[in-house]
Amino acid sequence: MTQETLGEVQTGKIPLKGRTLKELSDIMSSLGEKPFRAKQIYHGLYVNRYESWEQFTTFSKALKEKLEELCSLTRLHVAKHLKSVDGTQKFTFSSEPNNGKEFEAVWIPSGDGGRKTICISSQVGCTLNCKFCATAKLEFQGNLKAHEIVDQILQVERIVGDRATNVVFMGMGEPFHNYFNVIRAASILHDPDALNLGAKKITISTSGVVNGIRRFIENKEPYNFAISLNHPDPNGRKEIMDIEEKFALPELIQAAKDFTRELNRRITFEYVMIPGVNMGQENANKLVKIARSMDCKINVIPLNTEFFGWRRPTRNEVEEFIALLEPAGVPILNRRSPGKDIFGACGMLASKS
Ligand code: SAH
Repeated sequence: MTQETLGEVQTGKIPLKGRTLKELSDIMSSLGEKPFRAKQIYHGLYVNRYESWEQFTTFSKALKEKLEELCSLTRLHVAKHLKSVDGTQKFTFSSEPNNGKEFEAVWIPSGDGGRKTICISSQVGCTLNCKFCATAKLEFQGNLKAHEIVDQILQVERIVGDRATNVVFMGMGEPFHNYFNVIRAASILHDPDALNLGAKKITISTSGVVNGIRRFIENKEPYNFAISLNHPDPNGRKEIMDIEEKFALPELIQAAKDFTRELNRRITFEYVMIPGVNMGQENANKLVKIARSMDCKINVIPLNTEFFGWRRPTRNEVEEFIALLEPAGVPILNRRSPGKDIFGACGMLASKS
């Protein structure tokens, strides 16, 4: 491993969070320690949720001192913590105590208390420039590392004092523009020896980065998978999502079909509803045609932002649009988008309070 992958720039210490068990074993060997230490550290970090070497009580004093000197157990700093009237909580994190790089995660309990979802970020800002999304207005400041992704869950769960049943990569950023860190983080979330979340409880969502989808299929990633479609027509989609210029809709639809066929799994399409932009009979017909061509379900989300004078559809408009989609014969879910009062709802993550 190179200095860059092993060391932390500021402290020169080797960060241990966000490593696979195999990598931890390699690191321990390189420090002249027995590989079984890796398993103990892995367990300590993700099962016991230790945050300092002091808590590794089975380690000798000498070992703790050595690890303290050479390795770090970095954790995210909470820059802001907001609670919504509806129970949603938004966390603004930064990796360093005083650096401006901030990213957000949202704790979303369902009304009945059964489902508890954490929505996490994969990047600081985003390069995609989707016209309806507040994250697009931020300056892009880079990819998050695997440990910064995993630690969002560890910190949120520590602070709320509860465990999530579901994790969605639907916060800031495009997960497939940070493919390897996202997949590595997901594998730690999924690992029975780490956070032990079922693969179907982890959802990765892309705006349509087709080469990422191809890789996801090829590697047979077990995680739940969603595409933010948002418009059923290439020309219309281009108006609201720049990514259409790089990966055109027919190519995206083909990749989605291949996902469902090759992995024999259902795909989810997300569709933010913007009156006058992507609703109405004609768009519904096109969306129905897409939906009928593969095993899918559709999550519709009423717009949460008001850029360009756009507005949120009324309840009637939402119901009408859903009715127009019925001929697709696929499940259609009107997705709750809680946390609007704390700017924690879909499309609102921009470190604003
Ligand atoms: N870049 C990835 C991950 C972000 S997911 C992706 O696009 O899939 C964020 C979800 O919120 C997407 O489904 C997006 O379509 C939706 N969204 C973005 N802005 C929104 C807004 N203003 N109102 C409602 N939903 C929005």
